[in-house]
Amino acid sequence: MKILVLNAGSSSLKCHLFDWVGESQKPVWQAHADWSRKQVAARLTISTAEGKLQESEIPNPDVSTILRQLTAALPMVPDVAAHRIVHGGSLFHKAVLLTPEVQQQAMGFSPFAPSHNPMQLEIVDEMERMLGPKVPQYGVFDTAFHTTLAPEAYVYAGPSHWLERGIRRYGFHGISHQYVSHHAAKLLGGELAASRIVTAHLGNGCSLAAVVGGVSVATTMGFTPLDGLVMGTRSGSVDPGILIHLVRQYGYSADMLEAELNQESGLKGITGISGDMRELLAAMQGGSEPARLAFDIYTSSIARFVAGLIPAMGGLDALVFTAGIGENSPEVRAAVADKLAFLGVAMDEPVNQNKPMDQVISQAGTKPQVLVVRSEEDWEIARQCFAAQSES
Ligand code: AMP
Repeated sequence: MKILVLNAGSSSLKCHLFDWVGESQKPVWQAHADWSRKQVAARLTISTAEGKLQESEIPNPDVSTILRQLTAALPMVPDVAAHRIVHGGSLFHKAVLLTPEVQQQAMGFSPFAPSHNPMQLEIVDEMERMLGPKVPQYGVFDTAFHTTLAPEAYVYAGPSHWLERGIRRYGFHGISHQYVSHHAAKLLGGELAASRIVTAHLGNGCSLAAVVGGVSVATTMGFTPLDGLVMGTRSGSVDPGILIHLVRQYGYSADMLEAELNQESGLKGITGISGDMRELLAAMQGGSEPARLAFDIYTSSIARFVAGLIPAMGGLDALVFTAGIGENSPEVRAAVADKLAFLGVAMDEPVNQNKPMDQVISQAGTKPQVLVVRSEEDWEIARQCFAAQSES
């Protein structure tokens, strides 16, 4: 089955075409469009499993133009399309066929994910126009993996009308947490059913999930992807009293709060330098005190939240690092491991330093074990789409 995966962020779109015959599948073709400099141009990169084919710029791009160029370059017509959709509330537990009714339900979650859901659903519409109605389209939701949370883990301690208005913890990065926790259990060779794993998705956005027997039982992101860990430009959890103070004393509007909490906080806010971990590490090596402080706050926040998830699991068998920072920064992994040494975490530092991937990086015989696993979100979207299509 030829599965076209479309994974859209707020200013980029990753596409992978899988010729799916079994789970060891690699994409046969991929494309990446980046319109973070939207006013100028979108950059489109197309490559096959063998290497890069073509790079181009699309001036004054809109979603429709980008998708038209992209579909024109497809080497074969897909049998199905599978879309990552950020917010499915508590409605969608697994990949679903995107019927008009489902699309409308997903659109209903747009106020909860304004920079993602509308754009992702616009892409679904455009793709239907381009591929025709005979190619079924599936939605794989970032919130789906966390729909197993118990009320104790998802109800906020506000008045009960919050819950009636849909204000509860949903959690995000679910596709990544699901893939990574299941893959880690495979690598550990143990029973998935018996594993108690914390997955640390550390990219531009950062979140943890506590996964018991393959099922999410707690997670750090909440009603929105702002909650929990300190991130590149997002604050993570802060005292809500600060927001009230900013409104009362400084006349902040909702838009001002949103912009500061999402784009001007986190590593970028603390340092005033950058929300990008590579730049922060370089500044730290150059002796920058704010960069050092940001690094310490960031790694302390991870350690504190990891420890905070353990009661929900009754113990911890493994801690797994993934995404841009988790996969590539031995400094962050070492600092977090150091702060969790009281739990028995003991890193094998030579292994940690040697670009580990899909392997254990803690000392033999120690527990909890520590691993690095590459997040294969697009593969996981294809897998879930294949499973849903096979069931139908
Ligand atoms: P993602 O959102 O998963 O693409 O991750 C983006 C984050 O990963 C950014 O903060 C990058 O600076 C960080 N990152 C990527 N490569 C490295 C690296 N080699 N060392 C440290 N951080 C990295």
